Amino acid sequence: MSGRVLIIGGGLAGLSTARHLGEEAVLLEAAGEVGGLCRSTRRDGYTFDVSGHLLHFRRPAIRRLVGSLLPRQLRRHRRRAFVSFRGRLVDFPFQAHLYQLPPRIRRECLEGFLEADDRKGWSGLAPPEDFGSWIRYHFGPGIARHFLEPYNRKMWQVPLRELETEWAEWAVPVPTVEQVRRAAAGGPDPSLGYNPVFYYPRQGGIGALARALAREVTRLHLRRRVVAVDLTRRRVTTREGRTFYFERLVSTAPLPELLRMTRGLPPALLEAGEKLRYRSVCVFNVGLSRPGLPGRHWIYFPGRGVPFYRVGFAATSSPPAPRRAASPSTSRSPAARALRLVVAGSGGKCGPGWSKWASWKRERSRTWSTSFTSPTPTSSTIVGVRRSSRPSCANWRAGESRR
Ligand SMILES: Cc1cc2nc3c(=O)[nH]c(=O)nc-3n(C[C@H](O)[C@H](O)[C@H](O)COP(=O)(O)OP(=O)(O)OC[C@H]3O[C@@H](n4cnc5c(N)ncnc54)[C@H](O)[C@@H]3O)c2cc1C
Repeated sequence: MSGRVLIIGGGLAGLSTARHLGEEAVLLEAAGEVGGLCRSTRRDGYTFDVSGHLLHFRRPAIRRLVGSLLPRQLRRHRRRAFVSFRGRLVDFPFQAHLYQLPPRIRRECLEGFLEADDRKGWSGLAPPEDFGSWIRYHFGPGIARHFLEPYNRKMWQVPLRELETEWAEWAVPVPTVEQVRRAAAGGPDPSLGYNPVFYYPRQGGIGALARALAREVTRLHLRRRVVAVDLTRRRVTTREGRTFYFERLVSTAPLPELLRMTRGLPPALLEAGEKLRYRSVCVFNVGLSRPGLPGRHWIYFPGRGVPFYRVGFAATSSPPAPRRAASPSTSRSPAARALRLVVAGSGGKCGPGWSKWASWKRERSRTWSTSFTSPTPTSSTIVGVRRSSRPSCANWRAGESRR
């Protein structure tokens, strides 16, 4: 079979490319459904996103496109996010809500920020190129020590000096002196940050977007994992031994995977590929028997006491699914114990009816997903990152052993 353009992967990138190219594109997706990381699954009446995704539109054209794919389906949300800090919840962004901190820490953060700002003025130094120094340069030692450093270390799992800063300018808002003074005095600026407002489908989870895109892709083949790419003969082979020819190839598979399956690449390219680094993400999807923490979209956990870095409450963004019966209890599983840790960490309580079952499932090459169900549906997502590239959830067990 052939297509002028062959696309590997039916996540958002592959689907969008195929939709825009129309008839000339053939799309091969390894999984039995589209969406990749932006996939949602239904289980016992719950809709679980494989990992929590929110839509932030920086470009009006993209917003119009998504709006046309999901007419009257997108709901606009004003972010209600928090940081779990020493047993209390501080509004996010941390640097815009210093007044919520204990007085000594508030002073340390404010003074550190003012000194850093002052130093920027007289030293004439350009912003550093590594993220660790960049944080201290812009925010000073207080905000760095109490939030930005522990949180980012936990999320990226590498020394912060090994990260560059191009992404940070956009994702980590640097407030003005005026904003920080106001934040310390009790006049926060909730609009700081790249996501003060976001959109989410009213129904069907984030996977609704991928499914809407897929409806406009005519030559889509599911369960077709590409295992070999031959650039000389311009063809790919799938696991079942089928061959597809192309004039142009678009791959949205993970780069190391593409390099491994492409024949005849120069050794230097393969070597460069081996040096690519990435983090594994563990995502636990949890069905709750009562509202989680109503009115909250997500909470960041920078502290070392819990192994995950974020908990999201999907029910705040999307209405709950209908009530269904729960599955049998296996509450001794590692995931069930991790859930108790979450609940304790977020100040909630964990009764015996909480986690009815937990099942482990390997998602893609490096993502894990676990689901819990319980009779009344609301859902939460817990996200953590592993240091090693081998998929396992040993760090969750390490976290539990602290209890
Ligand atoms: C925890 C987490 C949270 C995130 N939150 C957000 C958010 O809130 N907002 C946001 O905009 N972005 C978010 N992102 C980023 C977003 O997920 C990605 O930018 C986006 O989903 C990437 O889409 P993609 O199509 O490039 O890749 P993927 O979604 O990875 O899709 C690749 C597809 O290729 C398929 N594939 C792989 N190998 C093969 C093969 N050999 N043959 C055939 N098919 C193959 C896979 O099955 C998959 O379907 C988040 C990412 C993570 C990990």
